[in-house]
Amino acid sequence: MSTPSVRTAPFFAFLALCVACDATGAAPEHTAFDAERAWKHLEAQVGFGPRPTGSDALEATRLYLEGQLRAAGLEPKREVFDCPEAPYGAIRVTNLLADIVAPGADAAKLPIVVLATHYDTKKMGFPFVGANDGGSSTAVVLELARVLAERPSSRVVWRMLFLDGEEALRPYWEDPDNRYGSRHHVKALVERGEAKRVKACILLDMVGDANLVLTRDSYSDPRLQQIVTDTAAELGLEKHLGRTPELIKDDHLSFLAEGIPSIDLIDFQYGPANAYWHTRDDTLANCSKESLGVIGKLVLGAVPALEAFATR
Ligand SMILES: [Zn+2]
Repeated sequence: MSTPSVRTAPFFAFLALCVACDATGAAPEHTAFDAERAWKHLEAQVGFGPRPTGSDALEATRLYLEGQLRAAGLEPKREVFDCPEAPYGAIRVTNLLADIVAPGADAAKLPIVVLATHYDTKKMGFPFVGANDGGSSTAVVLELARVLAERPSSRVVWRMLFLDGEEALRPYWEDPDNRYGSRHHVKALVERGEAKRVKACILLDMVGDANLVLTRDSYSDPRLQQIVTDTAAELGLEKHLGRTPELIKDDHLSFLAEGIPSIDLIDFQYGPANAYWHTRDDTLANCSKESLGVIGKLVLGAVPALEAFATR
């Protein structure tokens, strides 16, 4: 798969530079997403090994994410929570946040649109590297942070949110043993009076599947679903959208519980009958750079509509 690249066409490169100089807050081009960079972020995470909550490998991942965000000109912040509700004794989770704010903008007065991913991997009885589940969405959000930061919006604050503790500590998923990072994050949003400014949360999870078809999650906000559907049609990406409704429990539920419109962009059909999910088969070999590129383009393509939604 290839897309017209501004890097290889001098005329378009000139145009792109001019637009980049324009401080009107124009939306980033969806072609600006670099799947190659995203893939390198995925390889880096897998290189740290299994990354469950509380592990040294997850701290190494955090340091990597922070370094990349700083390189993009952002100031990542850590958000730490102790979670006494965990089934085997209290755990500590650490989210990372990086806000993208236009120069001179009064960030405290702008609506916030969240782009979220979980970056922990499920603790298993074998070395589970979570290339797709944890790695892929984190790689994409990191690359989206770079692109969005190049041309900050004057209409909204784009908040990159890297969540810890999405995975259940028990083998199965039973509340409240899951979504530790997002649940505590939303609680903190409410406590500091910021929740009302958060107009939408776009959650990415398991977006690296080489055979990428996003699940149509029925918990997700129908208006955000429509934006994604329309954008996919505009960009010729409809084949990556599934049509059968399913109910997916993921970090977006923490936002929805507080009335924040949210959508989960997830492909919950990873391998035949989802056979690669939470197994040794969740590896780089079953992910693809092209899939990361598809999601990157889709999200960037939806930026104008998402900003309109957030400022309606
Ligand atoms: Zn998982």
